[in-house]
Amino acid sequence: MGIQPLRTVHAGELRPGDADREVHVAGWAERIRDQGGVTFVTLRDASGVVQVVFRPDVAAGAMDEAGNLKREYCIAVRGTVKPRPAGTDNADLPTGGVEIEAEELEVLSTADTLPFQLDGRVDVTEERRLQYRYLDLRTPRMAANLRNRATTIRAMRRVLDDKEFLEIETPTLIASTPEGARDMLVPSRLRKGQFYALPQSPQLFKQLLMIGGVERYYQVARCYRDEDFRADRQVEFTQLDLEGSFWGQDDVLATLEDIAVAVVSDVRGVDLPRPFPRMTYADAMARYGSDKPDIRFGMEINDLSAVFAATEFRAFGGVLADGGVVRGINIGSRDMARSALDAASQRAQDLGAAGLVWMVVEPDGSLRSPVAKFLGDAELDGIKQGLEAEPGNVLLIVADKPAVVGRTLGQLRLDYGQPDGHAELAFLFIVDFPIFEVGEDGSMVPAHHAFTAPVSVDEMRNSPETAISKSYDMVLNGSELGSGSVRIHDPQVQAQVFEILGISAEDAERRFGWFLEALRYGTPPHAGFAIGVDRMISILQGEPNIREVIPFPKTQTGSDPLTGSPSRVETAQLGELGIDVLPEVRAAWEASESS
Ligand code: ASP
Repeated sequence: MGIQPLRTVHAGELRPGDADREVHVAGWAERIRDQGGVTFVTLRDASGVVQVVFRPDVAAGAMDEAGNLKREYCIAVRGTVKPRPAGTDNADLPTGGVEIEAEELEVLSTADTLPFQLDGRVDVTEERRLQYRYLDLRTPRMAANLRNRATTIRAMRRVLDDKEFLEIETPTLIASTPEGARDMLVPSRLRKGQFYALPQSPQLFKQLLMIGGVERYYQVARCYRDEDFRADRQVEFTQLDLEGSFWGQDDVLATLEDIAVAVVSDVRGVDLPRPFPRMTYADAMARYGSDKPDIRFGMEINDLSAVFAATEFRAFGGVLADGGVVRGINIGSRDMARSALDAASQRAQDLGAAGLVWMVVEPDGSLRSPVAKFLGDAELDGIKQGLEAEPGNVLLIVADKPAVVGRTLGQLRLDYGQPDGHAELAFLFIVDFPIFEVGEDGSMVPAHHAFTAPVSVDEMRNSPETAISKSYDMVLNGSELGSGSVRIHDPQVQAQVFEILGISAEDAERRFGWFLEALRYGTPPHAGFAIGVDRMISILQGEPNIREVIPFPKTQTGSDPLTGSPSRVETAQLGELGIDVLPEVRAAWEASESS
């Protein structure tokens, strides 16, 4: 008959106040230790762990069965809660003041020898962890990540439900939408030779919902982008997608603050100070060399160009004459040997700068640097003032085009200033992004996406390279958590944006005619945002990448070692879809099969 019911209490909840209770617990045998005729088993369920002790004088039968237990057997135990004997308390465990004295043990299922131990004592490769993700998920780290993922999404839904947003699903088999990445395609069997795209985001559907009179929309949406794998990207990822009519940037940012405050309160138990700081894109680039500045520490970039306006030092003078800038950061007091200073120069070159000038502030306030002898006293003073130099400080100066200087000093700032840990949470909004970027081939590409409204249509027409848009990002600890914008609701402005992007009227009509038409039927002004859910949770959990907070992620090369996706399919299946793989690809398949 066995232990019935299997469980009357969760393992992780037991406390000294439960002493003498008879309990049933069920879970996994995490550790089994035989100590002088007494067996200790650490039993783990989703709530945590508790120590179970098997004593021959209490239950000889259960004690014998405990002798056969192996790690990760799934078991149920009936027993009595006891305070731990004096001196054996474990202050590191919430249940460390008690143990369950077992009277009955039931093995619910046995476990093969595990491919790796779950106690984190031995390093396991990520590939292996993902191949056995279901075991990896049993570890406390992964269990906490999954739990807080659910907590995050629950808090997001709560905030938006309270504000009467409607949760609405949009299709995942769609026509391609332009978000700037490559689409994942799905062949149609019923219409051979035609393809669906998986959505890069629900962008156009949420705009159609606004046209459809839905005034507040949200969705926890799965999005797909066929990008080359970069460190922290996945082909499929989750966004909290939202959109509203008759509201603008301030309304969106206030709602995002509400969401962030609720999530951080539920996940971390911390009340975030409001309002979150706002910074323009131009300011962020000038002061931090990044549109996602980590503002947990200062070490800001300072412009020193004026100091060198009439310099005789050719390296700086030449750059300034070519329209470049001279900027620097003060990385604080640190003891850097010559080799460490040279390494900083090398790093700057690797980042694309022609070079780097380092200066060390001596105890008497003078500047030690290979270039000091080429600079006049006023210039040396100007550097000290500009970088607020104090004895012991190390100063790093780069002269180059503004973009190169920003990128280089922005990265050096992160290299030397990066705070340890993830305890502190520094949210901020970046506003006033440019509407376009100049692509590699000189063409204009949308900085956010093609449906973002310009601040001024005239400015957009006259100087598209520098025109500002009504778009904004949310940043947390130096990572972009998401982006959004006020949308274009005037079909004529939308057509002008397509034109600047080099999409001809015919092309726009062919690709987005349905959307341009929709805009013509009384479109309300609307705006929205999408938060990268995986990224947000990974930062809150202090995880190094988003794979750690996705239940079943792909590896960095886009494959799933557990189920073997992506995988080849039978020729017959391709035939049904009216497609085939290229002969050279087929030849490679055959070669790999015969090898
Ligand atoms: N669809 C956009 C994105 O995925 C977000 C937005 O503009 O709402 O980045």
